[in-house]
Amino acid sequence: MLFLSSYLHDLGVCLHFQDDKLLKNTVILRPDWGTTAVYKVTDSDTVRRNKGRFTDADLAKIWSDSQYADLQDQLLQLMMRFKLAYEIPSAPGSYISPQLLPVSKPHYPWNSADNLILRYRYDFMPKGILSRFIVETHQLIEQQDHVWKNGVVLADKWACAEIIENYPKNQINVRITGSNKKPLLEKVRYELWKIHESYERLEYKELIPCNCARCKDSTEPEAYAYDLLMKYISDRRYDIECRESYAKVDIRRLISDFPDQSTRNDLTHGKVEQDSSDRQSSNYPSYTDNSTHTTYHQYGKDDNVAGNKIEGDSTST
Ligand SMILES: [Zn+2]
Repeated sequence: MLFLSSYLHDLGVCLHFQDDKLLKNTVILRPDWGTTAVYKVTDSDTVRRNKGRFTDADLAKIWSDSQYADLQDQLLQLMMRFKLAYEIPSAPGSYISPQLLPVSKPHYPWNSADNLILRYRYDFMPKGILSRFIVETHQLIEQQDHVWKNGVVLADKWACAEIIENYPKNQINVRITGSNKKPLLEKVRYELWKIHESYERLEYKELIPCNCARCKDSTEPEAYAYDLLMKYISDRRYDIECRESYAKVDIRRLISDFPDQSTRNDLTHGKVEQDSSDRQSSNYPSYTDNSTHTTYHQYGKDDNVAGNKIEGDSTST
């Protein structure tokens, strides 16, 4: 029976989540019935008026019809399984459907000095990458307020990351500010990588824009592939030539908080607890798997700034 429902689920004939505590005892024989129930929420006037926010009490009203009444928990779980909603960590019983978030960006303070900038450029950008990203990372959303339809601000102890989808330009732009940006950078990269991997043959580039004098204020700066910069670092090549200005650019200052190989071993005494379970995925393309759990000794103004010496850099060229 279990095997059969798994097979039918794959065919879309019925929905049954055997690995889900709440859903394993419910077999939804007609997926369109489940879909209709979900649309009742996303189409609801109350939910739309509240810009995608709703509560258990709202759901009780929306699903008051007898066919749904006994299945409220299961239907909500279904919405969460399909990344159509998430529970607000600071307000249990309250939820957000990211598809219905406000279009306008909220106001929030941002220190734009010394930001680490990362850009994803897609050949063809599928819709919905950012709303999936928002659901996956919702526990890190700053004050649970700094989130809108095309963007979100995440925060950990040391840094803030702003992630904005620019659909017309086929880009996702990331900027990170803070004293230790690396753990949050890796979190953002990893969550986006997981989403990218779920698409078949999604073509995209992960780029770091140049910070040389000419590129700094340019709208079309030279951009280096993240992987290329990592290769340079692992080969102990710390400069790269900008193809726009021919200036020598210090790679470690482009990717702040990034210690070179020679100092990495010296820096392993401060541990950062960071999603060790998630990172077991074997083919995540990161050169820093061994160093993610490291606190890099960089604080205050010394990170990611051209002209500042990176602490721990004993092999400066
Ligand atoms: Zn440049």
